[in-house]
Parts: sequence; structure tokens; C-alpha cells
Amino acid sequence: MKVVLENLTKRFASRTEKGKDVIAVNNFNIEIPDGQLIGLLGPSGCGKSTALNLISGLEVPSEGRIFFEDKDVTKLPPEERGVGLVFQNYALYPHLTVEQNIIFPLQNLKGSQKMSKEAMHAKALEVAKLVQIDALMERKPRELSGGQQQRVAIARALVKIPNVLLLDEPLSNLDARLRLQTREELRRIQRETGVTTIFVTHDQEEAMSISDLIIVMKSGVINQVGKPQDVYDEPVNLFVAQFLGTPAINTLEGEIRDGKLYIGDEAVLDLPGKEDRAVYVGIRPEGFVLDPDGPFTCALDRVEVMGRDVSVVFTHEKMQAGRNMRAIIPAESAAGVSGGTVRFTLKPNKVFVFDKESEERV
Ligand code: ADP
Ligand code: MG
Repeated sequence: MKVVLENLTKRFASRTEKGKDVIAVNNFNIEIPDGQLIGLLGPSGCGKSTALNLISGLEVPSEGRIFFEDKDVTKLPPEERGVGLVFQNYALYPHLTVEQNIIFPLQNLKGSQKMSKEAMHAKALEVAKLVQIDALMERKPRELSGGQQQRVAIARALVKIPNVLLLDEPLSNLDARLRLQTREELRRIQRETGVTTIFVTHDQEEAMSISDLIIVMKSGVINQVGKPQDVYDEPVNLFVAQFLGTPAINTLEGEIRDGKLYIGDEAVLDLPGKEDRAVYVGIRPEGFVLDPDGPFTCALDRVEVMGRDVSVVFTHEKMQAGRNMRAIIPAESAAGVSGGTVRFTLKPNKVFVFDKESEERV
């Protein structure tokens, strides 16, 4: 089901400063397409949970409206919106078995929706199979691993076939390996059910790897919406460029002068037709080509072996304070790198230039 947010805003009275408001969600205008997996991404405290809670009905907006397809659900309580919710802590009923936990949402259905015992068991088994916990139906939550508990929570959220599935950092409590595995599972489950799913995370790699679309937010404001690869390749501002990608993008101070991009007194790239101004330069780690005659000179710190690639760590006087810079180079082409300075040519499509004042892409 399509979800439309219109001028959606949520203000809270500040917890720390009396009389001040925090705008947790600031004028969201977005159409979330039917049947897709959407990654809602941003640093801790940027308003992701608040946005999700507005969609579920757990929070009431200060302004704006929420539509599921053409239906205005802004004033509907959570239980009438048909949303499935999964949180970071699995919140299972400890005294109930896996099957009883999954069946729970079906038990208080009323009127024409009321289900027989057999139908409930059959439905529970169907979703348990989908999340691959059907062999564990008689266990109690404490007899399950974290990953299994989270699958039960997902099964419970899916059993009523929700209009929208909302997941708030559902993988955060899992260890690294299980987190990887469970996110693949989530992707598969979403594909198989086709339920419109909004997946909240602060982990850019997690969001990039499984989402059809990502929404990148900062301080309550949507900064960019797009396919993960498109947002990575065409970030609209410095924040988005820095938030996506591991290793992170390298940031330096620079200047556009006479159609060229300068870092220090080296002209590293042609930028014909761009106005002269002070800028930040973002260079993706894969944007460097070792070149003894290259225009960009850096001080070599060390080379880290990664197997297929090496990571060349270096410094530059114009780089952002407190961070080393990093280039990822195929191992075979890095053989000669040692001591002193390194020179690079830059791949134009891996270099982004941002106005120094506004931090918007130039
Ligand atoms: P995220 O999920 O991205 O970490 P949240 O949506 O939880 O962010 O919070 C966004 C902002 O709103 C934060 O500054 C947070 O402190 C504030 N906030 C969230 N809930 C409340 C509340 N009930 N009362 C006051 N401030 C809140
Ligand atoms: Mg949160």
C-alpha cells in the first residue's frame, strides 16, 4: 500500500531546554511507493523513530497528514491502521510459546474477521515457515537466540497481513554475523510478501544493501530520496556524501578558479563553466588513480593490505582536521608505493564539489 506524508511535522517540548521545541520531524512531503522496501536512514537523534511512530499512529503529528493510498489515516488509532510493528528489542510475551506469540494478534479480531482456532494455527504456521521458525513453535522466547526471537517478532507483525510493515532498528541487538544474515532474510521476506516496508536504521551500509529506496534525513529534515546507488553517486550535499560509503568519503577544502578545481595550489580537475568560489571537495576512496605525473600530491602515511585491494592512507594540508585520507587501489597497481609523497589523478565522477557556505552540491 502506498503511504503519502503531507507537510508532516512533529514538535516536542525540549527535554533539556525549558520552553524550547525540538522539531523531530520537519515538514515531510513524500510518497512511499507500494510494495517496496524503504530504508529510512540518518544519524541517531535525527527523528527516524518519530517519523515511524507518526506513520504507525503511536505519535500524533503537530501538523500535516498521512494517507494510506487515498485514505486519510491521520486521526486513526494504531490498531485501525493495519500496520505491523517490529522494534529493536523483540518485545515477545515471555510466558507464551512461539506459536502463541504469533497467534496473539489474531485472537482479538472481531466480527467478520474473527478466525477459527484451526485457521489461526494454519496462518501462524504459514508465516512461521516464511521466516523459517516453524520448527520452533513450542519453544518459549528465552529458549531462542536473538535472531530467532527477532524472526518471531517479524512473524507476529506479518500474521495479520499488514498494509505497511514498520521496522525500527530491528537488527541492532544482533551480533555482526546474524545481522548480515537477518537483513538478507528481511529482504527475502519483503519480496515474498510484497508488503510495503519501512526499515529504520542508522547504519548506511545496512540500508544501502537491502533497500529499493533510501530516505536520508538529518535533524528532522529529509535531505535526499533515491535508489541507494543513485544517492551514493549523486549526493545533493556534503552531509549525504559523508554519511554514505565505507570507507567514508575524503573531504578537503578547495577552490574553483577559472574553470578549474584547486586543492592548495594544485589544479586537480577541470570544472568548466563553474563559478569561482570556495568549496569543500569530496573524493570517494575509489576515485584515486596512482599516477607519478598526477596533479594531486599527498603525503603517504602507510599502505594497508586488504587482499584484492590495498588501502593507501595519506595526509594533505587541506584535508578535514583530525582525519586521515584513504584511497582504495587494486593491489597490483600499488606495488611501487612507498615512502614520502604519492601522486594521484582523480576520477571525475568520484569527485563532488560543495559550496563552502551552504554545503550544497555545486
Ligand atoms: P532517532 O530515532 O533518529 O534516533 P528520535 O525520533 O527518537 O530519533 O528523536 C528525534 C528527536 O526528538 C531527538 O532530539 C529526541 O530527543 C526528540 N524526542 C523524541 N521523542 C521525544 C519526546 N517524547 N519528548 C521530547 N523529545 C523527544
Ligand atoms: Mg530511534
